[in-house]
Amino acid sequence: MSTDATSLRIVAPADGSLLATVPVTSAAQVAEHAADAERVFASGVWSGLAPRERAAALLRLADLMERDGATLARLDSEDAGKPITECLEGDIPGAIESIRYFAEAADKLYGAVAPAPGNVLAFTQREPFGVVAAILPWNYPLAMAAWKIGPALASGNCLILKPADATPRSALHVASLAVEAGIPAGVLRVLPGTGPVTGAALASDPIIGALSFTGSTRTGRSILKAAADSNLKRVSLEMGGKSPQIVFADGLEFGEALVDGLITAAFMTQGQNCTAGSRILVHESIHDDVVARVAEAAAALVVGAPSDPATQIGPIINAAAADRIMAAVRHAVDAGATAAAGGREVDVLAGGRYIAPTVLTDIPAGDPILTTELFGPVTTVQKFSTREEAIALANATDYGLAASVYTKNLDDALATARGVQAGVVSVGNYSEGDLSSPFGGWKQSGFGGAEKGLRAFEQWTREKAIWIELQGQG
Ligand code: NAD
Repeated sequence: MSTDATSLRIVAPADGSLLATVPVTSAAQVAEHAADAERVFASGVWSGLAPRERAAALLRLADLMERDGATLARLDSEDAGKPITECLEGDIPGAIESIRYFAEAADKLYGAVAPAPGNVLAFTQREPFGVVAAILPWNYPLAMAAWKIGPALASGNCLILKPADATPRSALHVASLAVEAGIPAGVLRVLPGTGPVTGAALASDPIIGALSFTGSTRTGRSILKAAADSNLKRVSLEMGGKSPQIVFADGLEFGEALVDGLITAAFMTQGQNCTAGSRILVHESIHDDVVARVAEAAAALVVGAPSDPATQIGPIINAAAADRIMAAVRHAVDAGATAAAGGREVDVLAGGRYIAPTVLTDIPAGDPILTTELFGPVTTVQKFSTREEAIALANATDYGLAASVYTKNLDDALATARGVQAGVVSVGNYSEGDLSSPFGGWKQSGFGGAEKGLRAFEQWTREKAIWIELQGQG
């Protein structure tokens, strides 16, 4: 992807070919859209519907996404360079399921009655903000869009969604499906554009009441500042990670599931995943064995063109990212680290950059590769000898998004799950949980509300307390 002030050139990470040219939404256009969305919200065409009716429209949208699933998968695979099989089997079904989950919840959310004195009825209810916004990353284009569209629309808001610069096409397609599904025009607006122009305008817009951001910690910080300097809109931030995978001495009892879990966590979407398990922490007694197994499995992953159904590892999103990842690997190796697998680029298609799944061991303490989010197919391996040391190593990062723990010992599992500073901890596998399970980061990975689960509605609604004092009660 490269761009100028008025248009985005959508370029295939696979081979550098031009896929599309999409206009950048200007700051003035963002302001017009926000004002118009406010009118649509106030008209009640969407916000005034019974929740059941909003649910029905969103369920129709999910059906249309299913109808066009192959197209949506192709768009995400082309734009982001994700393996097509991952899009067909993971991203797109996941996005459809998200829309259905939140649609079905629309008429199942209750307020509360407060224990007020007898002459008073005091209750709380949650209400939509009106106009809300979402700013998205490129690595899970439609899956992330669906996590925002579902609860934002189900609760009655009008949503302005800015896809990532590189990956706007699946969200634009879904915007057209929303109209086909009978969601009134102007309720869902997809505004492609760049961060500094379109994203920044959303972050400082005076009408938008809430903004949910998923992306890098650096951008999240600037959005938070823009919100503080404008209308103090509510900001939710889901950002980067440097997630540990902790393998205790009995970890080999998980057999193939251990290696599968470690490999999937480290290399899914080429490691360009917010919860990527990019740090394997392994008990010293099985360190060499685990390194050998992980290295062998990493080397067996199929690196190839994203359109090939057999591909497991596709291209890196762009040349700058590939340069950054390779520079970090070279720095670690020059300092004494060993590449047990990978550590090199692979020629697949001219114009694309492909990095072999990389497993690094013997990394000198203090090397930045142990603490910086690389966002590439690289995992480090470190040894520990005690549970306390494992937890300390796991927490030795500014991030706190996810962690995995492999042990069948309940004491170790629970103490580690409790001791790790992360928003999501999976035990005995690598998982972010299903849709019913809240998802969100700690520390510099985020705050402000969970994605998924019914708690997602808290991002998109505000609570009101109503106190009714009854007169003349005898
Ligand atoms: P990014 O921060 O570069 O961009 C994210 C979005 O922010 C894009 O739409 C971009 O245009 C916009 N943006 C950039 N500058 C902006 C500004 N000044 N004001 C407003 N908007 C601006 O992130 P990315 O490279 O697209 O995505 C990768 C990052 O996303 C990684 O750090 C990854 O860990 C994170 N991520 C987190 C989650 C999660 O749920 N925690 C999920 C996926 C990705």
